[in-house]
Amino acid sequence: MTGVSPYLVPPEDLASLLGAEPAFRASQLREWLYQHPVLTADEMTNLPAGIRDSIGDALWPFDVEVDQSADGGRTRKWLFRAPDGAAIEAVLMGYPRRTTLCISSQVGCAMGCTFCATGQFGFDRQLEAGEMVAQVAYANAFLRRFPIDGCPERVTNVVYMGMGEPLANYERVRESLRRLIDVAGMSARSVTVSTVGVVPGMLRLADEPWPVYLAVSLHGADDETRSRLVPLNDRYPLEAVLTAAEKYFASKGRRISIEWTLIDGANDSDHQARRLADIARRLRAHVNVIPLNPTPLSADEPSSSDRTRGFMEALLVGGTNATLRETRGQEIDAACGQLRLRRATE
Ligand code: SAH
Ligand code: SF4
Repeated sequence: MTGVSPYLVPPEDLASLLGAEPAFRASQLREWLYQHPVLTADEMTNLPAGIRDSIGDALWPFDVEVDQSADGGRTRKWLFRAPDGAAIEAVLMGYPRRTTLCISSQVGCAMGCTFCATGQFGFDRQLEAGEMVAQVAYANAFLRRFPIDGCPERVTNVVYMGMGEPLANYERVRESLRRLIDVAGMSARSVTVSTVGVVPGMLRLADEPWPVYLAVSLHGADDETRSRLVPLNDRYPLEAVLTAAEKYFASKGRRISIEWTLIDGANDSDHQARRLADIARRLRAHVNVIPLNPTPLSADEPSSSDRTRGFMEALLVGGTNATLRETRGQEIDAACGQLRLRRATE
């Protein structure tokens, strides 16, 4: 071993780390990394001590800098730190029949959505495929040792909704999907890629072999409203995003979901709700309304509970299938980019 995390090596090339060891050792190692992840190399019981020792502390491509739990242990947030100082956040949410992990796809984000802590910080670098897959493997290894009461003891769902815009890191995200689905054996139906509307990436994803769910972060139901919140709308306007979403649906048969962060006075009017309902009907999409998590660098505030109710009612009247997202882990800054922000400003 070279001190390089085996997660940073393609699963088919693991033999290159093992020198003169027989080929079946690489298969055994691959099983430990992808099928039965463990927290430490010591636990890879069928590998000789020499190999376990040589992996040693380099098993993970990052250190665990922060590990916090909330909601009575049902929500867990990790801040991982890569050797170059890059911060990688992941949030685990346990429910009675699923355990969902929200992973990061970039360090920071260049898209600059006004209300988003990650966007406010700008872009640092792309995450490698192995750094994305290792977030999932770490959560699986953790759950195996520390299960959440009443929840599945493995990650059943992965959502690319942490820091970063996955479709602005297309090749590496694609490779992470390949490893999660083809190598680790997750079902494509248990994976959701969330995009702010990178149209070329949406069209490419429609041509990939995996029918993953696509979530489109809309936040505005006309170009003027959307451009104020999502600068990328000037490059890929609403109609282009909706057409790409339709193509995705036609190609994969997977229901699109629309994400809508509800912001006081910015996108919470009945008028916006009615237009959103029209869009949702056209795409046959489900709408997830997310109450704004306030960020220190923006004056935006969440909508009042009355307005939130009014908005949801207007969606229902418009015939839309809509859910108000439960806010998880607020006391541990579980929203996108917020833990890193807190660490950086302390
Ligand atoms: N870049 C991708 C995925 C990461 S952001 C995207 O934008 O879809 C994941 C979700 O978190 C997005 O729907 C985004 O709108 C939401 N989000 C970002 N900042 C938020 C905040 N401060 N409060 C509530 N939701 C937020
Ligand atoms: Fe990037 Fe998504 Fe945040 Fe927008 S909401 S800045 S696309 S991470």
